Amino acid sequence: MRSLPTSDAIMQVKHALLINAKRAYEIKLQTGNGGNLSGRIPGADLIVIKASGCSFDQCKAENLVTVTLEGEQVDGDGLPSQELATHLAIYKQRPDVFGIFHSHSPWAIACASFNDTIPTVTFHAKSKLGRIPVLRLSGETTGANLAAIGAMLTADRNLRAFVQDRHGIFSFASTIELARYQAELVEETAQIAWSMALSKHLASNREPDA
Ligand SMILES: [Zn+2]
Repeated sequence: MRSLPTSDAIMQVKHALLINAKRAYEIKLQTGNGGNLSGRIPGADLIVIKASGCSFDQCKAENLVTVTLEGEQVDGDGLPSQELATHLAIYKQRPDVFGIFHSHSPWAIACASFNDTIPTVTFHAKSKLGRIPVLRLSGETTGANLAAIGAMLTADRNLRAFVQDRHGIFSFASTIELARYQAELVEETAQIAWSMALSKHLASNREPDA
């Protein structure tokens, strides 16, 4: 039988999610009402995830909903994020993961459109993130998509982030704060990689000086 956590344990996870949702909205890592984030409750088969439809700046304890690892809702206003299945797939396969951050960040999505991985062009990104694969899936969360995510996690058990083509960043770590930092770094790295590619293109097309 599942052991129930204290409400303090749930509130602690919700508090950490609120801080990181606010920060992500402030720095425009996610605008509008897209993206989502979640945290695992230590010692219990439960996670807390943002409700569907609310923006990061609208997050409050009531619309962060608690669900079991099987997807059954335990508390909270509204329905869990539509991307709950992706979060659950990651938590089930990676017991070391306690926080997942997901954003529809533009530089990462643009960079993913022409690369199989986001190029880790800085030493910092290479050391903190390692490889950032691009996953090309259909838009909906289907069984086939979840199987592809599972296969990717099996192939690299140290994976910290990936970018779903035409969708966004998924970053996961031992804390939600670290997962959000990693997502910031993926977006920053993608912006630098894109800018370097553009510089190279402009230099190769420059008219010779008269
Ligand atoms: Zn999404």
